Amino acid sequence: MATRFTGGCLCGAVRYECSADPFFMGNCHCRDCQKASGSAYGTDIGLPATALKISGVVKYYDSRADSGNTLRRAFCPECGARLFAKTSAMPDLAMITAGSLDDPSQYQPTLDIFTASAQPWDHMNPALAKFPKMPPMEG
Ligand SMILES: [Zn+2]
Ligand SMILES: [Zn+2]
Repeated sequence: MATRFTGGCLCGAVRYECSADPFFMGNCHCRDCQKASGSAYGTDIGLPATALKISGVVKYYDSRADSGNTLRRAFCPECGARLFAKTSAMPDLAMITAGSLDDPSQYQPTLDIFTASAQPWDHMNPALAKFPKMPPMEG
């Protein structure tokens, strides 16, 4: 049973919707996610990119990940809110940000990644699986 996600940016210029079974939900504590979010970690809900329908204009900022892949972070050019990201490693993957959801309680992370660069003031849920860098890919 696919879950329906709807959300958008702070100013409302960009909206998205998606019905899908998420591949994963997790917190990324890498320095790039700290910089991009302005906070302790980035929140990622991994979904099939083809299922994500976006209305409004987004701008992308591309950065090179540790793996050598390009990570494209999409944000609203009006209000700057982070919305989703895509990676060249998996073209059919989109990762939406939990805080942009209309119902952010839909976010149920199961893992913390790049914990090696987590900050001392970043208090993580001890119940979640921890990976110092990128977790090994399954399948
Ligand atoms: Zn906006
Ligand atoms: Zn990250």
